[in-house]
Amino acid sequence: MATLSFEYFPPATAEARQNALRTVARLAGHRPDFVSVTYGAGGSDRHRTRQMVFDTVSWHTASRHRCPVMPHLTGIGHTRAEVAALLADYVAVGVSHILVLAGDPRPGEFDVGDGDFRYATDLLSFVREEGDRLGVDFTIAVAAFPEVHPRSSDRATDRRHLAEKLSMSDLGITQFFFDADHHRRMVDELADLGCTTPVFPGVIPVTNPASVARFAAMNGTEVPADLWNRLESVDGAERLRIACDEAASLADELLADGVPGIHLYTLNVPEAAEGVLSRLGPGRFGTTRQST
Ligand code: FAD
Repeated sequence: MATLSFEYFPPATAEARQNALRTVARLAGHRPDFVSVTYGAGGSDRHRTRQMVFDTVSWHTASRHRCPVMPHLTGIGHTRAEVAALLADYVAVGVSHILVLAGDPRPGEFDVGDGDFRYATDLLSFVREEGDRLGVDFTIAVAAFPEVHPRSSDRATDRRHLAEKLSMSDLGITQFFFDADHHRRMVDELADLGCTTPVFPGVIPVTNPASVARFAAMNGTEVPADLWNRLESVDGAERLRIACDEAASLADELLADGVPGIHLYTLNVPEAAEGVLSRLGPGRFGTTRQST
């Protein structure tokens, strides 16, 4: 049975923090296998992520549904000492899952090659070393790009690096995409390279087409013009309906293909995640979830 996970982003204001925690509490009712918290959304600093991780851990620890909280962690522009301090803070509150990423340059702040980590694999090796030092066997996830990472010179090289990274990890989570064929092709290419690490597709209900299009452009994700026309011609409940219909239809196709799990990008909008789950119907996700 497939797993279910949710992705949250760290809120920027006190009011947004309350909303984010209400989202976490509400979606916990769907008993995710794990939840993740993005790192430095929109170029913000890591302290917001740390706070959101702490809030989410304490909420899940106190709630009837305990599940791992997986902070995202990026390497570019950061030092080993900074990462070590953050990992120690996470371990102190019981975090044992990390999504390890290279990250992106921040114009005016740092470029690829600045800091102690260039590629996700550099950070991954360091996280494993720190795990040994701290006495934690981290579960490590990494990013996968079905439509090929924009910094890759060509498809074959991208897949070689991805397969190598996955072989050092416990699971992969993909960038969002809108055509299941992108995911199928990537899975086949990885299988040809002997890669057996599970890769969970990331599915996004597009409740905010302008901001999702910006991310898509950064990541080389193909945006279906027809879907965007429909989303942009409406708003409110009608836009939410279309976003949920489309995301549920993609998730349904992927589940029918036998993917190991669905990672839902919630954008901290509980109605969207719930809209997708209600369309998928009961009994679609697995047995590994536990409640306390
Ligand atoms: P890498 O795996 O290092 O790959 C980057 C590029 O380098 C690729 O082209 C790869 O082929 C190439 N490469 C890898 N290894 C080598 C090597 N040894 N030699 C030469 N080339 C190599 N960003 C954030 O800032 N915060 C987040 O919270 C965040 N969350 C994300 C969650 C998911 C699920 C995904 C898919 C992406 C997320 N990102 C996030 C974006 C991510 O940080 C960027 O896309 C970044 O540019 C790539 O990260 P990576 O870990 O895939 O990099």
